[in-house]
Amino acid sequence: MRIAELRGPRQFVVVDAEVPTPARDELLVRVRACGVCASELSPWTGTVQVDYPARIGHEVTGTVVGLGAEATDFAVGDRVGVWATGAGYAEYVTATQEHCRPMPASVPTDVGLLEPIACASNAVELADVRLGDRVLVIGAGFMGLLVEQLVALRGVSQLIVADSRSDALALARTLGATDTVDVTQEPLEAAVHRLTGGRGVDLTFEVTGAQGALDVMGDVTQMSGTLVLVGYHQGEPRQVPLAQWNWMAFRLVNAHFRDPAVIMRGMSTGMALLATGQLDLGPLVTHRFGLDAINDAFAAAVAKPAGFVKAVVVVDHEEEQHD
Ligand SMILES: [Zn+2]
Repeated sequence: MRIAELRGPRQFVVVDAEVPTPARDELLVRVRACGVCASELSPWTGTVQVDYPARIGHEVTGTVVGLGAEATDFAVGDRVGVWATGAGYAEYVTATQEHCRPMPASVPTDVGLLEPIACASNAVELADVRLGDRVLVIGAGFMGLLVEQLVALRGVSQLIVADSRSDALALARTLGATDTVDVTQEPLEAAVHRLTGGRGVDLTFEVTGAQGALDVMGDVTQMSGTLVLVGYHQGEPRQVPLAQWNWMAFRLVNAHFRDPAVIMRGMSTGMALLATGQLDLGPLVTHRFGLDAINDAFAAAVAKPAGFVKAVVVVDHEEEQHD
């Protein structure tokens, strides 16, 4: 089979490898697509150290083609979303059946990206968004727009989305935002003040992973409100205005999840919402690349051209015809 191996900065090479053999509790999955995750961009650009060669890729969708002896929850031919532990940019991947969820026929196989949906749904649940809340989401990238859609399902009274890209904000308005703020046009604090009658919001989700959002989120959230950290804050140390956060009695929510049981519960939640159409990833998967163009997929995810939200590497173009 073919698999993309990261050999150095900006250098995936597609190589031949043995098709992996599923262990007793594992499935062998023919990969339809693998989403390019923001957490993989630093390893690709080389700004964080990784041991080369590396086989990454964890947001997998595909079809079950083999079963370990104890993997009795699935059958050959089942469509699945997979939270892979790596090696997902390949024609085949193995995963324990606990890391897989059945994918309903109504969900296109190249958009059933379970792991990010799990993170977003767990973030919204841990933040405990209530009926009638006023909510701000800073960052309208893939995760921000996912969080936005899930917050909208909670029956909030106001859902403000802020970003510096007008195309992302236009999409945010179609996905449930009641208001959007282009931070290149108006300072966020002034805009939220204007939009909330000076009260501030009840909850602010930071989904940028950047210092700037940490600086401002306390200025736009009302006293005893909730600050939710969803962004991926790796690399350079960040600073937070702790005196303000402390004085304002904010509830701080670190919406990162490492407990596999929690992530897998989020996967089940996400798949249920995809199945009913309450959550739609279709508008969010904007860029598709073949396995041979995987470096272009990562370059797009770094450069974010106009209209970009999420790139997926589509490995098996024939898959839809097999179904
Ligand atoms: Zn991911």
